[in-house]
Amino acid sequence: MIQVTKPFLPPIDEYQQYVEQIWKRQWLTNMGPLSSELEMRLKEYLDLKHLLFVANGTVALQIAIKALELKGQIITTPFSFVATTSSIVWEGCTPVFVDIDNKSLNIDPEKIEAAITPQTSAILATHVYGNPCDIDQIERIAKKHKLKVIYDGAHAFGVKYKGKSIFEFGDISICSLHATKLYHATEGGLIITKSPELLKKVALMRNFGISGFGTYGDIGINGKNSEFHAAMGLVNLAHLPAIFNKRKELSTTYLRNLKTLRATYPIWNTQSAPNFAYFPVILESEEFLLQLVEELNKNQIFTRRYFYPSLASSLPYLAPSAFAITDDISKRVLCLPLYHDLTIEEINLITRIILRVQNN
Ligand SMILES: *Cc1c(COP(=O)(O)O)cnc(C)c1O
Repeated sequence: MIQVTKPFLPPIDEYQQYVEQIWKRQWLTNMGPLSSELEMRLKEYLDLKHLLFVANGTVALQIAIKALELKGQIITTPFSFVATTSSIVWEGCTPVFVDIDNKSLNIDPEKIEAAITPQTSAILATHVYGNPCDIDQIERIAKKHKLKVIYDGAHAFGVKYKGKSIFEFGDISICSLHATKLYHATEGGLIITKSPELLKKVALMRNFGISGFGTYGDIGINGKNSEFHAAMGLVNLAHLPAIFNKRKELSTTYLRNLKTLRATYPIWNTQSAPNFAYFPVILESEEFLLQLVEELNKNQIFTRRYFYPSLASSLPYLAPSAFAITDDISKRVLCLPLYHDLTIEEINLITRIILRVQNN
């Protein structure tokens, strides 16, 4: 069986060494030494001044919205994972969807300005598949209309934009370190901001707002992460070069094998290089996609319609709305299996089946 993704698992003894440290210290959670070490090592790795390790990417988004004191409407993309939208609603704000660009599959800045109202407080944009948004345009619009910007960089670990970490952009950027992501800590998230004041606020919010014994600096939530998760993050960090290289090789093989497939691919931002987090293919029609999925499933190969359906038409807590490009692309895009243990032989098998369905 070939799944669409499989979490990376390091050699168990590497993890056990950290677990033994945790046992000796009996410090299991609450900003322990391994969590602090992970934050320090990630700052080095990503070349960032500030970053906070939190429980997951969703709570990172929720804390970001809360810390920026956003109210009213937040402009966002319907082509993302549900957490991007649900966090907005959870924080008592209203998501206002704007269609995506048909090349990058990211929110289309050309359409943002028309959606701005006196109630708009921010733009929450996703770097879809790790591909940087049109950051320059988004910053320009945000500045002009005095809006805050949050980037959902859940897919964008390791991505650079104009030579800087992608997480440097926006008032706040977040990342997910969930087991299915490119780099993971089992569960986990990152909050990144350049502002020292915001960082302080976010750090308070991560820990119930507690500022000292019996004193509270702000409203907070339990956004902390554990030493066990930090340990997984620390171990996996050393494997990242191998993970990137393998995924690059696998993606290159897909592209080479699928040269004659009638399909397109998202166009990567020219100021950036791919991180190979996913292998999305935009097929000619939904009908062809469904044929492919069926044939692959028969062969015990599992893909993922990611993202499908559009968030603007599928959430029971929002009135449905249609977006021409999102609705079209989400019906035709398919993520093929991509994970560290996948072999070239397996890719050859997958692509043979795909081409057979097309050429039949
Ligand atoms: C995974 C993901 C999230 C949520 O991250 P968790 O760590 O699973 O909470 C948010 N946004 C996007 C785009 C994601 O892919």
